[in-house]
Amino acid sequence: MDKNKKQKKHKYIFVVGGVMSGVGKGIASSSIGKILQNKGFKVNPIKVDPYLNVDAGTMNPTEHGETFVLDSGLETDQDMGNYERFMNVNLGPDDYITSGMVYKYVIEKERNLGYRGKCVEAIPHITEEITRRWKRSAESHDSDISLIEIGGTIGDYQNILFIEAARVLKIKNPQDVIFVMVSYLPVPGVLGEMKTRPTQNAVRQLNSYGVQPDIIIARGSHPLDYKRKEKIAIACSVAVDNVISAPDISSVYDVSINFEKDKIGDMILKAFHMRAKVKGDALADWKKFVDVSKNTKKTLRIAVVGKYFDTGDFVLSDAYISVIEAIKFSSYWKGVKPELTWINSKEYEADPKKVKDLSGYDGIIVPGGFGESGIEGVLMAIRYARENKIPYFGLCYGMQLMVVEYARNVLGWSDAHTAEINPKSSHVVIDIMPEQKKNLEEGKYGATMRLGSYEAKLLKGTHAHKAYGAETINERHRHRYEVNPEYVEEIKAKGLVFSGTSPDGRLMEIAELPKDVHPFFLGTQFHPELKARPLYPHPLFTAFIEAVLKGKK
Ligand code: GLN
Repeated sequence: MDKNKKQKKHKYIFVVGGVMSGVGKGIASSSIGKILQNKGFKVNPIKVDPYLNVDAGTMNPTEHGETFVLDSGLETDQDMGNYERFMNVNLGPDDYITSGMVYKYVIEKERNLGYRGKCVEAIPHITEEITRRWKRSAESHDSDISLIEIGGTIGDYQNILFIEAARVLKIKNPQDVIFVMVSYLPVPGVLGEMKTRPTQNAVRQLNSYGVQPDIIIARGSHPLDYKRKEKIAIACSVAVDNVISAPDISSVYDVSINFEKDKIGDMILKAFHMRAKVKGDALADWKKFVDVSKNTKKTLRIAVVGKYFDTGDFVLSDAYISVIEAIKFSSYWKGVKPELTWINSKEYEADPKKVKDLSGYDGIIVPGGFGESGIEGVLMAIRYARENKIPYFGLCYGMQLMVVEYARNVLGWSDAHTAEINPKSSHVVIDIMPEQKKNLEEGKYGATMRLGSYEAKLLKGTHAHKAYGAETINERHRHRYEVNPEYVEEIKAKGLVFSGTSPDGRLMEIAELPKDVHPFFLGTQFHPELKARPLYPHPLFTAFIEAVLKGKK
């Protein structure tokens, strides 16, 4: 009884996209979530991805953007990273839903006679399973409001069942469900005028599914004038005040501040007949961060050396969004602006002398990655950073290659390598774990890496220990290979410190050089960038930026 009563009161906000993809539904959703949180509500964000992949792990980051790994190990879409960053929440496996996940579950249930002989159909069985997952996510967070972003654009074939599930939820709970449409208003070059028609058509299409938007967020290169606000309002049956102007702005962290100018928070609460639990400026903490980010004048030049950068016309910033944001957060709080230069490591392979250009940078980062391309160039860059005492931060592959470089050039094992590239090397210093070997032999690639949050213990007196100010930490992983335990003692004897290890000491989690040898030469087997948040920058990124700043002086 109590549970029913509670569920009745639970609110759902669905965010859908109109006209075209890439208009910033994820940022809009995250910003709305942040605003409602600061008005005193517990909000759980959910991302729905309509593709048939069961998770995002098997997708190429150069096509789909970064794979964002949750504590649980679930490999998800980069929007989940936006939610975690904006809303400072740790999301769980119930908070990400793909069509593949839903279909797989329903088909397996059918195979096990879970539908007791019934004919199993898209409607109602898929839609009911979708709704069950939404409710389960809300329960797992014990939240007041669920914020559900439906991937894709209105008019796509793939997301129809999700919109249908949302429609049914609204029919059953008319007071508790609202729809926000994030749409796009183009300004054709020849006309120089903002056009509302595509948005009107998108709303009609949504109407044809039986859904009426309550709020329209009008994205565009320019702010929306009153005349067009009115036009959209009348054509789309939405109150004028509920049409929000969302012009392009330089920082995604400004979006929530911009939305609040139009009082989107109160608008949503009014639609739910609710009142803010917390009075005052809903974004005070956030504005402080945004101010800090804007008032920094001094710049740091950071080179990000890697191999992904030559893959057609994908957007780099999407493939490495968490790394970029993590660098920004720590830099801003230190009062500096990072200037990132993406360097294709193949340049160094073609012309080894070019590696000297790295002397023009204040710090060097090698991010995560897979495969062989450009790796010798990366190793040259790492060597340059080590020998020239330029602060270096290696993330996952960047840590493994740091160990390879050290083994080759300090221990003198000239063909040392990772098994990922040369398993026949006489010193495979980065090797595959037995359980991973089995997966690969059986052709199993989905969700088979070491994934998600694992504990590590830190060695006192090291950079890592000082940065975290703790003896144990938890960080998220996504990799198949590990530092080979066979060589650990020999490598340590030559000066590389393993400052973080798994609690049983078997797996190397952090490698670094002591302070008296190098100002900052550190790599992590995990991905610290996944836990960096605007208001809570990651300690290791901050330690790196501090070292970079010191070197600059
Ligand atoms: N390719 C390496 C591995 O699988 C590193 C992975 C990564 O950087 N995410 O272990």
